[in-house]
Amino acid sequence: MTGKTNSSPLDKLGLRSSLDCALHIPIRYEDETKLSTIAEAIGSFGGLTYQVQGYVIRQEVMFRPRRQLLVQIRDDDGQELFLRWLNFYPSQQKQMSMGAHLRVRGEVRDGYYGPEMVHPVVKAVTPDAPLPSTLTPVYSTVAGVSQTLIRKAIAKAIQDPGLQISLKEFLPNELIAKTFPGLTIPTLISALQTLHQPSKSDDLESIQNRTHPAWRRVQLEELLAQQISLQQARQKRLNRQAVSMSPAPLERGVLNQFIKSLPFDLTGAQKKVWQEIIQDLSRAYPMNRLLQGDVGSGKTVIAALAALHAIDHGCQAAIMAPTEILAEQHYRKLKLWLEPLGVKIAWLTGSLKVKEKREAQEQISSGGAHLVIGTHALIQEGVEFAKLGFAVIDEQHRFGVKQRLQLQQKIDDVEVHCHQLMMSATPIPRTLAMTFYADLEVSVIDELPPGRSPIVTKLVKNERRQEVVSGLLAELAKGRQVYWVCPLIEESDTLQLKTAVETHEALVKALPNVKIGLVHGRLKSQEKNSVMQSFVSGDIQILVATTVIEVGVDVPNASLMVIEHAERFGYAQLHQLRGRVGRGSAESVCILLYGQELSLAAKERLQTLKETQDGFLIAERDLALRGPGELLGSKQSGDAMLRFIDLQKEQWLIEKTQQLSVALLSNYPEIAEQHLSRWLGSRAEYLKA
Ligand code: ADP
Ligand code: MG
Repeated sequence: MTGKTNSSPLDKLGLRSSLDCALHIPIRYEDETKLSTIAEAIGSFGGLTYQVQGYVIRQEVMFRPRRQLLVQIRDDDGQELFLRWLNFYPSQQKQMSMGAHLRVRGEVRDGYYGPEMVHPVVKAVTPDAPLPSTLTPVYSTVAGVSQTLIRKAIAKAIQDPGLQISLKEFLPNELIAKTFPGLTIPTLISALQTLHQPSKSDDLESIQNRTHPAWRRVQLEELLAQQISLQQARQKRLNRQAVSMSPAPLERGVLNQFIKSLPFDLTGAQKKVWQEIIQDLSRAYPMNRLLQGDVGSGKTVIAALAALHAIDHGCQAAIMAPTEILAEQHYRKLKLWLEPLGVKIAWLTGSLKVKEKREAQEQISSGGAHLVIGTHALIQEGVEFAKLGFAVIDEQHRFGVKQRLQLQQKIDDVEVHCHQLMMSATPIPRTLAMTFYADLEVSVIDELPPGRSPIVTKLVKNERRQEVVSGLLAELAKGRQVYWVCPLIEESDTLQLKTAVETHEALVKALPNVKIGLVHGRLKSQEKNSVMQSFVSGDIQILVATTVIEVGVDVPNASLMVIEHAERFGYAQLHQLRGRVGRGSAESVCILLYGQELSLAAKERLQTLKETQDGFLIAERDLALRGPGELLGSKQSGDAMLRFIDLQKEQWLIEKTQQLSVALLSNYPEIAEQHLSRWLGSRAEYLKA
């Protein structure tokens, strides 16, 4: 590393050398090149940012409705504008004393006193102080490190002659030219210089919206690092050992026995994914496959088949689910399906008593248990499998990064690796699959079992809930069951619990002859299980629940779901919740109750859910809204590596970069390595999750 900077606050940002600084790329820019009159700024209430200047003609600390600082400025045209702060320091009061000349930047809105800017950026300058001639970069930072400090350090670092060496081009010119024919791809050092200090002659708009060639270079660099790292992971996997399980046709042996015992025939889509999975299982390196299929498409039975196949080959199998309720349900179902075939099943969750846990661990390590079902307790310390050959991770995206890393380590530790099948109802758009999961094969169940009637979704105002309650009786009279989902209360578990308890009481009161149960996250797991069991067996007719039932729960006789304050839930959650009904042949209904004030986004969300049951479409809307991190549950993993690219817009670049990484790895492996360490450094660990 060259040119140590000596200012210690920057250490907090990991900016220790000129190279670190150069690679700390602006997250956005401020345009301080233009000055408007106050009249212009006031004239356009469009959420646009303006920079104006004027003299302070009033400064006052107000106490109503709460303590705040009010400042008024007047420009040369005699136009006036209020500036307002809800938090402020004495130093600010001093800076903005009567008569001071200020240059301020912010959005104008209609305030109580008149047009105002709330918390604008303020500089005290002379009226004729020159404006910056180019964009001002804004950097990501942490508390205690000011933009001014970072800007200074980076401006200095960029001048460091040592950068010519530490930022020298790794990527072979001819390879770049071949991959991107006809495109301008600047050198890395010049791209970084442009991004830190755009010059007047640069196209500032394309710098701001990240389409400038300098951005292209940086996006390419990051994507390339990520692709290389994924390809390496893939290579590593292909070099590992796993038990090769001969491909078994479903018509033979124990698999056939199992299939015959099922009360249904597999759908065409289920048979197709089975073919794909069985091919993978027959290889001598570990499978890494994602089984995708919309809510209710029948993924569990595929997991059971594969587990049985592994057990038939003398291995142990494991199924891990993100919640106890779901794990418990899998346990019951697989017991029913597989125990008659002689499969011994162990059950392991965090809530087991010490003695039970020890017994389960003993079963697992001695090989007495063929199949182990549980929560992430399965990957915790003290659990040693005798011969794990196949593992299923259900609702994979619901596991946190930490748990996935733990799992990976567990898997990395052994000599003979296990085949992995991840399952998820959240469809991953192609772009995302390519960037985040280059080392993942994907199978899709694209067909629901026959005889399902579509779920009718209704939007109902909360005021009409009385009618909804009366409507429940008609459904119950047909022998059907009902879920009543309580509103999400993000800020407070306690409040959510209270709401659930109250809703339960209110329903019990309103429907005295109906058997109504309550399940929520605070119940002990035994209590949870017993309530769920009563619902499964039909002893409970209405189940009042929090989102603990969100994933996986399968009670085909439930045909009506009411979701309170549906506007508080996101796309994926509503889709998952709704998927709890419509699992039998009965016509199913999902009622989305909504409160008074609906934001535009919430309106659109509920309308989309009303109009479609297509999980893929819903996931795309969700992606557009929230970005890939949340969708994949990888907020801190893959996401962190791709800070500058809009995956939706730059799909072409992803494809090109993938080609480039393949070419690099096969022809210039050392360059690939250098590139990777320049960009990833310590972040590489996260990618493995
Ligand atoms: P998911 O894909 O959401 O995990 P499940 O595996 O829970 O779905 O399956 C939903 C329901 O459909 C279960 O009751 C399951 O037994 C049933 N099922 C699965 N496959 C079929 C099929 N081929 N025909 C009829 N019902 C099926
Ligand atoms: Mg499932």
